[in-house]
Amino acid sequence: MNVYDSDRIAMVLKPLGYKPSSFLKMADLVIVNTCAIREKAEQKVFSFLGRLADMKRKKPDLIIGVGGCVAQQEGARIMDRMAHVDLVFGTSAISRLPGLIEKIESERCQVADIEMTPGIDEFGFVADERRNEKITRFVTVMQGCDNFCSYCVVPYVRGPETSRPPGNIINEIKFLVENGVREVTLLGQNVNSYGQKEGLCSFPELLALVNDIDGLLRIRFTTSHPKDLSEDLMFAFKDLEKLCGHIHLPVQSGSNRILNLMNRKYTRELYLEKVKMLRNLCPDIAITSDIIVGFPGETVPDFEKTLELIKAVEFDGLFAFKYSDRPKAAAARLPGKISEQEKKERLQKVLDQQDHYTTLKNEALVGSIQDILVEGYSKRHRVIDRHSRQQDVQWTGRTSSNKIVNFIQGDGVMFKDEIVAGKMVRIRIVKAFSHSLWGQPVKAEPIPFGLIGEKSNVA
Ligand code: SAH
Ligand code: SF4
Repeated sequence: MNVYDSDRIAMVLKPLGYKPSSFLKMADLVIVNTCAIREKAEQKVFSFLGRLADMKRKKPDLIIGVGGCVAQQEGARIMDRMAHVDLVFGTSAISRLPGLIEKIESERCQVADIEMTPGIDEFGFVADERRNEKITRFVTVMQGCDNFCSYCVVPYVRGPETSRPPGNIINEIKFLVENGVREVTLLGQNVNSYGQKEGLCSFPELLALVNDIDGLLRIRFTTSHPKDLSEDLMFAFKDLEKLCGHIHLPVQSGSNRILNLMNRKYTRELYLEKVKMLRNLCPDIAITSDIIVGFPGETVPDFEKTLELIKAVEFDGLFAFKYSDRPKAAAARLPGKISEQEKKERLQKVLDQQDHYTTLKNEALVGSIQDILVEGYSKRHRVIDRHSRQQDVQWTGRTSSNKIVNFIQGDGVMFKDEIVAGKMVRIRIVKAFSHSLWGQPVKAEPIPFGLIGEKSNVA
């Protein structure tokens, strides 16, 4: 969500003459777009802002702004704590940013705007300067949240749940596709309730509309709340050819007692049942999840139930977090806080156990043939000789199930001398690592849906 918002921030500042810079030291304006979801994220913000103080001393005209969820949560207190910060703006102030910056430019004063305005600002879509620079993009379909899980800060810093009208979303995606994007990830805190409050279409209906967009090859979405995961949405995985075979379904805990304290409104039994239904409909679907360890009052037997659930589901991947108190969130006031050391040990146990399943899932793909949407050069890509332009061309992309696959351009028969970012290519998986796969291009067979991509400009 912050990636999407950062792009919008860059867009609204363009008319003022600002453009994104790759070098912090050269910047005339630094905007720190912040996350408040866990204490650690918030600490990072303040340590980064601390480092900017030195930069401001050397360059007094530098403007420093803080946006996003920490800005919304802390407001002008940030400027009390850090006098070198010129601007604090909240999560619904992006469209007002140009006016705020102009005020600082002309009056050299400190400004705070954390007013939360209802609805989502629609002020145009972000395009890349260079066509086809990004093959995959995030698109926010709804903002805020009404669920109030007891550990979570989102409802307080992003406001009530609000959905964007489908027409705006479709137009934005069409615009992105015209600019070279081939895959979109639709974003919302709980996409299952998309459009319900406003009486718009349902989320599966929105997916069907997106599926009809010519030139778009793949659709993903996040996040789906287990309590609201509907059969219609499960069928969408089966019926919509562009919808990728991966669902992120955060479970948080395997203990019903803790789930209840978290205000998650489902039980482990219901969660397991939904996983079973999903796998019955789409046997190859990859399932990933989020886990919080050390929620207040989590006993060793509660924690063991989480380990059992992870074992029972065999997730493709997990994001696991140590619980941290968030101001305003109800769990901050719960008794039975778990020590940092205990949380650390529980987290390690979850990660170690999951590593085993992640490796198993990756190894199971060795020998299979997968359609990969190529996103660009891999991190290992290097130019061997600048003059002859000889390159060790390594590409990276993802399977439909969201697993990273790296491969060499000439390592096979099909794509020699072609630039392939933005294309779907057919790859045989030959090796599995813990967080990626290695593959070889295979000769094109009869070309199925989506295998034709246009030659893209990634050089
Ligand atoms: N809307 C999504 C989650 C968004 S927050 C959903 O409902 O699933 C992303 C993840 O951060 C959560 O799934 C949770 O695992 C984690 N998280 C949120 N608040 C946290 C806290 N106070 N401490 C630790 N982890 C937290
Ligand atoms: Fe937070 Fe729960 Fe809303 Fe997700 S559903 S954003 S965890 S309150």
